[in-house]
Amino acid sequence: MNLVFCASEVFPFAKTGGLADVTGALPLALERSGQEVAIVMPFYQCVQEGKFDLGRTAEGINYAVIGKNIKVYFAANDAYFKREWLYGTTHGDFGDNLDRFAYFCQKALEIIKAAGFRPDIIHCHDWQTGLIPAYLKIRSATDPFYKHTRSLITIHNLGYQGLFEKGQFWMTGLKPEYFNQEGFEFYNKINLLKGGIAFSDIINTVSPTYSREIQTKELGFGLEGVLRKRQRDVFGILNGLDYSIWDPAKDGLISARYSLADLNGKAKDKKALQEICRFPVNENIPVLGVVSRLAEQKGLELLTASLERICKNNLQLVILGTGDLKYHKLLQRIAAKFPKNFALFLKFDETLAHQVYAGCDIFLMPSQYEPCGLGQMIGLKYGSLPLVFKTGGLADTVDSNNGFVFKKYSSQELLETIGQALKLFAQKDKWRFLQKNAMRADFSWETSAKRYIELYEKAKKS
Ligand code: ADP
Repeated sequence: MNLVFCASEVFPFAKTGGLADVTGALPLALERSGQEVAIVMPFYQCVQEGKFDLGRTAEGINYAVIGKNIKVYFAANDAYFKREWLYGTTHGDFGDNLDRFAYFCQKALEIIKAAGFRPDIIHCHDWQTGLIPAYLKIRSATDPFYKHTRSLITIHNLGYQGLFEKGQFWMTGLKPEYFNQEGFEFYNKINLLKGGIAFSDIINTVSPTYSREIQTKELGFGLEGVLRKRQRDVFGILNGLDYSIWDPAKDGLISARYSLADLNGKAKDKKALQEICRFPVNENIPVLGVVSRLAEQKGLELLTASLERICKNNLQLVILGTGDLKYHKLLQRIAAKFPKNFALFLKFDETLAHQVYAGCDIFLMPSQYEPCGLGQMIGLKYGSLPLVFKTGGLADTVDSNNGFVFKKYSSQELLETIGQALKLFAQKDKWRFLQKNAMRADFSWETSAKRYIELYEKAKKS
C-alpha cells in the first residue's frame, strides 16, 4: 500500500510530545513490513537550522529521507512556520494557528500530488490535520489522483481539539455549510478534531481502552456523542516502544546494563540513582520513580495531595519532570520537608530519565487519564514495576502480574496500593517473579504496525 502520514510533528525533525515519537517510528515499522510510506510535515525553523540532510524536488519542495526510502516532505511557508516554537509560546497558542494549519492541510495534498505518490491512505494525526479528511472528500469527487484515497485519523489525546472562533471559518476555505453540527461546529466554535472525526473513513486512538473511554461522558471531552455515532469505525491500537532506545541491555546512558537473563546490573543502577539523589545507599529501601510532564492529566493533583503521606513511609522517591508552575512550587515545598527521601529534579533530562527508569524499583504513574503512555512501558522493560491508575493505555499494559493497579481515583487507594507494593518488595522471590514478567512484555512497533495495516485495509474497503 501507498501510505502518507500528515502530522504537525515528526521525530527527529520536530517534537513536543509523544505524537512525534509515533509519527517518527510507525512509518519505519510499516516500511519494514513492506509498505511504501511518505510523510508531510511543516517546514519549521528547527528543520531549517542545518541539522538535517535535505534534498529538493524538481518542484522546489524540501525533503529528507528516513528509514530506507521514506521521503519526509516539508510544507514551507516561513511566515507561518519559521518560528522558534511549534504551536505557541509560554504565553499561549499562536493567534493564527487556524490559518497556519489550514494552510498546511491544503499544501499537504498538493505536495503529495506533485510528488506523484498516489496514496491508498492518508493517515492524519490530531487536530492540526483535522481538515485533511474534508479536503480529501471534496477533492476525490473531481480529482482522479485522489479518487481512491481513504483517510484515517489518529487521536493521540482528545484533550486537545483545535478550537477557534466561528468568524474565522472562512480561513479553512470550506463552504459555510461545513460549519454545522455534522461537521466542524462545536458549541458555536470551530473544532478541527471534530471535523477530522466526521470526515475520516476510520478513526483510531492509541490504546483499546482509551478508544472506549473517549465514547463516555467522563473522558469524551464533549465529543463522546460524535464518536459514539461513528463507533463502528472507532478502533484502538497501542503505541509501540522503540527498543533501540529503551532497553537496559543496550542502554548507554545507565551505569550498568542488565537483562531478563541477568538482573545484577540493576542493583548498580539503583545505587547510582541513590547517589545522584543524595539518598542513603541501601538496596533494601524501595526507590519510587516518576518521570513525567507535571500536568493535571498525569495525576499531579492526586500525587501532590498524597505526597507527604507517601514520604512518611520507609521509601525513597525521585521525581523528574517539568510542567505547570503550580506543581513546581508545590513539589518544591514538599521536597524541602523531606530532604532525606524525596529528590526533585525540575527539568527535562534524557540521561537522568534513563537513570531513573533503571534505578528505581517502582515506577509511579497515577495519570488521571492516559491515551497510551510510554513511561509505564519503559518501566516494564527496565524491571521497574509500574504502579498506575486503571485507565486508558495503563489499563491495557499493567496488571497484577507485572505491576500494581489502583481502581478508584483517590489518595487512599493510591496510598494503599503503594503500601501493597512496599510489602511485596520485602518478599524478594515474589518481587523477582513480577520483575521478570514485566521485562518479558513486548510492545514493539512491529506488532502495532500489523494492526495499523489491518485498519488501512478496512479503510480501503470503506
Ligand atoms: P506524554 O506524551 O503524555 O507526556 P508519555 O508517557 O506518553 O506521556 O511519554 C512521555 C515521554 O517523555 C517518556 O519517554 C518520558 O520518559 C519522557 N519525559 C517526560 N518528562 C521528562 C523529563 N522531565 N525528562 C526526560 N524525559 C521526560
